[in-house]
Amino acid sequence: MKYDKDMYIDSGFYGCDEDLECHKEKVVKCRKPHTCASCDKDIKTGDYALNESGFFDGEPVSSYTCLECIEEWLEESGQVETDETEE
Ligand SMILES: [Zn+2]
Repeated sequence: MKYDKDMYIDSGFYGCDEDLECHKEKVVKCRKPHTCASCDKDIKTGDYALNESGFFDGEPVSSYTCLECIEEWLEESGQVETDETEE
């Protein structure tokens, strides 16, 4: 994990979906393998991922995104300083 946990949670990666009720985001350590909702890469057991959950049309939904995707998003959206010249 490159950044503060809160950075991932507050990244705004998932945006605002008004149809999603009880929307929650948290960084979790996966207890079973998942597939990243963004890049389709495998998230292995024991890896950290951002979990989004809520209710959509009364049905519980839950998706996982690998931290690399969030990191990319944080960097692209300018929420973190990227200093590539630093040794
Ligand atoms: Zn990913």
